Amino acid sequence: MSARRIDGTAIAAELTTKISAEVARLRKEHGLDPGLAVVLVGSNPASEVYVRNKTAKTAAVGMRSSLHTLPATVSESDLLALVAQLNADPMVHGILVQLPLPPQIEPQKVIEAVAPAKDVDGFHPLTAGLLATGLPGLRPCTPSGCVRLAKSVHPSLAGMEAVIIGRSNIVGKPLFHLLLAENATVTVAHSRTRDLPAVARRADLLFVAIGRPEFGKRDFIKPGATVIDVGINRVPADGGKSRLVGDVAFAEAAEVAGAITPVPGGVGPMTIACLMLNTLSAACTAAGLPDPAL
Ligand code: NAP
Repeated sequence: MSARRIDGTAIAAELTTKISAEVARLRKEHGLDPGLAVVLVGSNPASEVYVRNKTAKTAAVGMRSSLHTLPATVSESDLLALVAQLNADPMVHGILVQLPLPPQIEPQKVIEAVAPAKDVDGFHPLTAGLLATGLPGLRPCTPSGCVRLAKSVHPSLAGMEAVIIGRSNIVGKPLFHLLLAENATVTVAHSRTRDLPAVARRADLLFVAIGRPEFGKRDFIKPGATVIDVGINRVPADGGKSRLVGDVAFAEAAEVAGAITPVPGGVGPMTIACLMLNTLSAACTAAGLPDPAL
């Protein structure tokens, strides 16, 4: 491996240390008491792990969290009623409904039910519109984490050639707007892109978010490029076990890249740190305090 390994765990820990300090200062000086409500529907094992990590990290930075678990059979209207109740609760500053949801529930309806001021996931269409038009607002966690990781290698992204593979509403599209706001020159590739490796090789900054294990190979990487691997895929491992891999074939990509994020330990921890930051931001906005610029 010749590439520098971008340590998302360490960079996230640095950010959460700053968030903890800011939470303590705002509590002391302004009596601010930020609270995150997490809603988990059903018993998807991956979702249970994510939710556990998020609530544990919320407590670790000194903020309140409440976990609302609903059975997989819950009706859409009961879930929407819970969201409405959380929207109205002044002690709740951020609401996160863990996806995916069971088939009887239309996820877009739930995303649109969350009050934009409490939309710490950044998935509401209004939040997306604020980002797209460069107006202040909450920014989606995973794309924000990706940009922070890229900036840990290149403090300024201005003028850099960035390629994003994947155009989902939760990763690729918001990442496009965040990178544009950093003055990068951005290409978004997807399943209909012609000669994907050639498009990817244009990138000084390559972001891969497609949900296909180790899809991005050596021929996707421009020598010296910075690679941010968003993918989280569970694949079979020896002894009947499983392991997590990204959307990039790490070992071979690392022979060509200048810097690369591992999976696990790259984007994942940054997503949670950015969720903490969004919860603090939402609490500050609700209290009429300036946004903590961390
Ligand atoms: P998604 O909604 O399924 O979107 C996948 C995107 O990849 C689509 O735009 C699709 O193109 C594109 N794509 C699929 N196959 C492709 C191919 N063969 N060539 C080129 N493009 C292809 O996925 P997502 O929600 O964005 O998630 C992507 C990955 O990131 C997943 O592994 C997910 O687990 C991971 N993730 C990680 C975090 C984290 O915290 N680390 C957070 C969110 C997601 P079309 O639009 O043309 O279909």
